[in-house]
Amino acid sequence: MISETEKKVFEKIEQEKDKIVQILKELVKIPTQNPPGENYEEFVMKAKDYLEERGIRTNIVKVPNSFAKEFIENPEEYPRYILLAELKKGSPTIHFNGHYDVVPAGEGWQFNPFSGKIVDGKLYGRGASDMKGGIASIISTLRILSEFEDSLNIGINASLVPDEETTSLGTKYLLKENLVTADYAIITEPTLLKSIDIGCKGGLWLQVKVKGKAAHASRPWLGENAFEKGILLANSILKELKPVITSRVSEYDFHDPKSRRATMELGGYVKGGSKTNVIPEEFCFSIDRRVLPDENINEAYDELVNFIEQKSKELGISYEIVVEDIEPPYVLKNGGRFLDLLSATAERITGVKPQAGVKTGFTEMALFGARGIKAITFGPGNENLAHVVNEHIEIKEVIDSVRIFVTFLLSL
Ligand SMILES: [Zn+2]
Repeated sequence: MISETEKKVFEKIEQEKDKIVQILKELVKIPTQNPPGENYEEFVMKAKDYLEERGIRTNIVKVPNSFAKEFIENPEEYPRYILLAELKKGSPTIHFNGHYDVVPAGEGWQFNPFSGKIVDGKLYGRGASDMKGGIASIISTLRILSEFEDSLNIGINASLVPDEETTSLGTKYLLKENLVTADYAIITEPTLLKSIDIGCKGGLWLQVKVKGKAAHASRPWLGENAFEKGILLANSILKELKPVITSRVSEYDFHDPKSRRATMELGGYVKGGSKTNVIPEEFCFSIDRRVLPDENINEAYDELVNFIEQKSKELGISYEIVVEDIEPPYVLKNGGRFLDLLSATAERITGVKPQAGVKTGFTEMALFGARGIKAITFGPGNENLAHVVNEHIEIKEVIDSVRIFVTFLLSL
């Protein structure tokens, strides 16, 4: 049974269809390629205009160079901006987040990657799926809802951020400065509206640098072979620690069932030695440890580092650990009514019930999660078309996503 408001909402979206497509097209036409992070100001100004046209409050925040410098070399030349928007204050507050940077277009496109050409109901262009479709959806959802503000029982705000494709500088600054107040966050990255990401694995990336002493290989008694010691250490990690780690299975549902185990891979990066007749002075190997939402990132770090310390002592090895990156895992616990209602609304509109599951790779959901904001990822577009030549998005999906979001938010 469709309510009176819902009927009006659908009529409104029908009237606005062309405008939604135009917004998407105009956004795709701004080449916000990252690196280096170009045309960002033009993009946030354009998005701001679309929002302010409907009386939605906006604020453009320039990320200070002092902060940006920790992530990029030249923020003076390529400044970073965050666009904040607020439709209504209230409780609970739902936040929409999207990144407006796109990976470089590359060569070999059938159409100009920044023309937004439409063929057979698909809009082509770099960022169409990842994730200007999701951003057009956020902007259009807020625009439509601005006309139904009195029927809203919740708070709604949004952020458009740069640099998800590289360093997550945008969302990191957004959260560090508490620019978002929200109970829930919906990141509209592409999930084809057919699945809802409710979590992701964390990651622990480090390098182990085993130290030795260089000498001529004909007189090994004068040196210390870092490679030979390093492989003994690596071997003990593989034989003794890896089986323990990979025996852990998550209690949560993953989109890819193979991903339910914790993993650890050695040697993605290796370096050492210079010449056959020289005893290597240093041997370095990397460790990529993926952490389950059921695990604790600090415990995972300690487990690994303590093992290396103990084994090195036994083997008489001196070493240094360089931490490349540590990102915590995340999972939405007790999604409850919020998740059920979104899923049911999507099913009603598209005919497909989206499957909730944990994602294998790291996503910015974890950054929101670490701030106590319950984050999910759900949006129009196809993840498999991200970063490839001839990226595109089904226009119907963008329109459907607006129908879903508007109806869902009005029913909360
Ligand atoms: Zn993306």
